[in-house]
Amino acid sequence: MPSWRCMSDIPRGDIPTVMTKTNWGAIAPLTDAQIEAVRPPKNDVDSWKPYAFLSEPERSSDGAIVDVATIFLTNRECPFRCVFCDLWKNTTDQRVPLGAIPKQIAFALDQLPRCHSVKLYNSGNFFDRQAIPLEDHRAIGQLVGDFDTVIVENHPSLCNDECLRFRDRLNGRLEMALGLETAHPQVLARLNKRMSPETFQRAVEFLVQEQIPVRSFILLRPPYLGESVAREWAVRSLRFAFDCGIECCTIIPTRKGNGALEQLAQIDQFSTPQLASLEAVFTAGLEMERGRVFVDLWDLDRLSTCRLCAAERKQRLLRMNLSQRVLPAVRCGVC
Ligand code: SF4
Ligand SMILES: [Zn+2]
Repeated sequence: MPSWRCMSDIPRGDIPTVMTKTNWGAIAPLTDAQIEAVRPPKNDVDSWKPYAFLSEPERSSDGAIVDVATIFLTNRECPFRCVFCDLWKNTTDQRVPLGAIPKQIAFALDQLPRCHSVKLYNSGNFFDRQAIPLEDHRAIGQLVGDFDTVIVENHPSLCNDECLRFRDRLNGRLEMALGLETAHPQVLARLNKRMSPETFQRAVEFLVQEQIPVRSFILLRPPYLGESVAREWAVRSLRFAFDCGIECCTIIPTRKGNGALEQLAQIDQFSTPQLASLEAVFTAGLEMERGRVFVDLWDLDRLSTCRLCAAERKQRLLRMNLSQRVLPAVRCGVC
């Protein structure tokens, strides 16, 4: 277990110079076709049912612990082909029928406990009309309008007046989740997300000006970065997101499983991040005191290499998510 607790503590010698001198021109981005060609099959989904839903506690922007429902909507696959993305696995090839999305939301809300906020996560972009038909916005607004906060995910290039019209359908507030992924310009260009840090910044400025708070996703160790450099860039990405006006960041360890990352792993351009890196970046993010910082714990077991301390370390991260305070590191006699 490393003894450092924030980025400034990391010995400079820990950052391999070979990665800081990468010849980016020599690394061609994968194309849409190359990314699609190596995908495993999709899962079977039902256009009339969300593919999952759950409720969990979350620290709100005013410091309270509130229950937040997350509904994972089934809809048409996102048109982008980000090299790290596996969200297409639970999507349809065709647009779902009109009325299907409101039905899915009603189905989940019927079974979920009463919650303060709701996340409508659609494995893509809420304001993509082929994913969530515009004609359904009114019915969706009626179903979720009384939640304190409605959080939807979107691509920065789809932040436009339609977001404002949907905001105005809600009695509570609309919050937008935008994936920055990384502020590293060369890596971001190779993620095939078709945006730059500047695109992201402009979208955040537009939304914040329109009273729509924004949360962001930051990837821990996207492809093309070694462990130490990735750790450093995750922290720089958090700082960049807060500088843009983001009020909440979630750090997501990049996970294999979509085919493309397995291919990149074979040529040493991707590796699963270490749990210690997640802990260090989370600590650095909380110590910034710029806004809420969460870590995504849904897939944490993939990062744990020591069975003795895995559960305790996960509990610590969960408590840090809820308290937004850095807690003492877990000491393990084995790793
Ligand atoms: S924009 Fe989002 S949902 Fe679409 S491919 Fe990229 S990461 Fe996946
Ligand atoms: Zn251990």
